Amino acid sequence: MAIRLHFWGADQTVTGSSHHIECAGQNVLLDCGLFQGRRQDTVDINSHLALTPQQLAAGGLNAVVLSHAHIDHSGDLPLLSKQGYRGPIYATPATIDLCVPMLKDSAHIQESDAQFLTKINSRRSSIGMPPGPAPVPPLYTQDDAAQACQQFKPVKLHEPQLLAGSTKDAGFTMTTSNAGHMLGSTNVLIDAIENGQKTRLLFSGDVGRKNLPIIRDPDPAPAADYLIMESTYGDRLHAPIGDVKQKLAGIVQRVTARGGHIIVPAFAVERIQQLVMLLHELIDATQIADLPIFVDSPLAVAVTTVFRNHTEEWDEGPAAFAAKGEDPFGWKRLRYTQTVHESKALNDLRIPFIVMSASGMCEAGRILHHLKNGIEDPRNFILITGYQAENTLGRKLLDKLPEVNILGEPMRVRAEVDSIDSLSGHADQQELLDWMAPVAPTLKKVFLVHGELPAMTVLKAKIEERYKLEVVCPRRGDRFEVS
Ligand SMILES: [Zn+2]
Repeated sequence: MAIRLHFWGADQTVTGSSHHIECAGQNVLLDCGLFQGRRQDTVDINSHLALTPQQLAAGGLNAVVLSHAHIDHSGDLPLLSKQGYRGPIYATPATIDLCVPMLKDSAHIQESDAQFLTKINSRRSSIGMPPGPAPVPPLYTQDDAAQACQQFKPVKLHEPQLLAGSTKDAGFTMTTSNAGHMLGSTNVLIDAIENGQKTRLLFSGDVGRKNLPIIRDPDPAPAADYLIMESTYGDRLHAPIGDVKQKLAGIVQRVTARGGHIIVPAFAVERIQQLVMLLHELIDATQIADLPIFVDSPLAVAVTTVFRNHTEEWDEGPAAFAAKGEDPFGWKRLRYTQTVHESKALNDLRIPFIVMSASGMCEAGRILHHLKNGIEDPRNFILITGYQAENTLGRKLLDKLPEVNILGEPMRVRAEVDSIDSLSGHADQQELLDWMAPVAPTLKKVFLVHGELPAMTVLKAKIEERYKLEVVCPRRGDRFEVS
């Protein structure tokens, strides 16, 4: 019996997760993520999915399994529907509820991007300039996103689910476990059955970490014959999570005392909710003053509702608030701002406050107005809370450039800038090695995905040394037969 693995995304890179598996004529897709990068690459890569539109329209794909809601794992699902797929997309209830606002938001970005390019082209021709690049139609629309969301089917952790065929002669079943990476995240164990014989393939999704705020710790890896594992931080160790709360308290105390504002660029999903709950804990413990806090991101508002509703995903942190009859993500002086008018009104507030807003790397969104308004005041503090890609405004701030451009204007960076980087949802090198320890004795081979080549190369050597296993780092389009 043979299973064919077809690697089609997040191969020697960290974005666009997608893996196609085939056994006895049955086809399953693990993740269907958006590739994020330079514009021309993204158009080419995202418009070619692992199966062609002809295959999709002919029912050539039996099922999709989504490991978690992050856009680099889920963001091409609307395109899959647009290209003709009408079958089930299996995910946990929390992942499904997160995907509804996140895919809608992603579609809105695709639509705005296409509109923007069209506008630029028409302006160029109206002043007699040669036209720029041809307008790109949106990769998908909000209608496509809504269609994909209708195809979701909820799965329960630890309960086997038939994906295709039958469990007797030929087919696929899957069993999910908690990945501890974000709300609703899973590891996916696929059982491929042919002639009554079973081969087990474990897909790590993104591997989480112990002691992250809000969510439960990762489950141990189940036994399997083959492992497809992420490797984002395969060459790095994180700072301990336990230090975050004290560092946060210190910053708030210091900036409040000097009458400044704390401006927090943060990802709308997970990071804002983590910070909100940690600040709530610090206020309840009277470690910081009960100052006004604003969450200024419409997407974060929708996402926080999902966090509030999915109590089955919570660890003891939010549960302790619920036991006291409190909302971990809401209290009197925390305000979720909805309108642009409310957002702009913060410019005139003269007392100390905290504002959290997207985008997390300061590339777009309402955070830009807050930075523009506050960056030149030395009493203020800009708190970077996540990974900052090269060439982003967030990276320039982190690199302590004395002057940056915000919304087209040069600004002096006089506010204090520092970062909290230990809230990462990704396991580091040691945590990845520890997570795979229970599955290592049964493995025949490891496929590393979702990592840049330098990180993968270091992790590959560590796995070979510690577990004496064969490790492969596939490229996009590579196919392997395993049995
Ligand atoms: Zn992720």
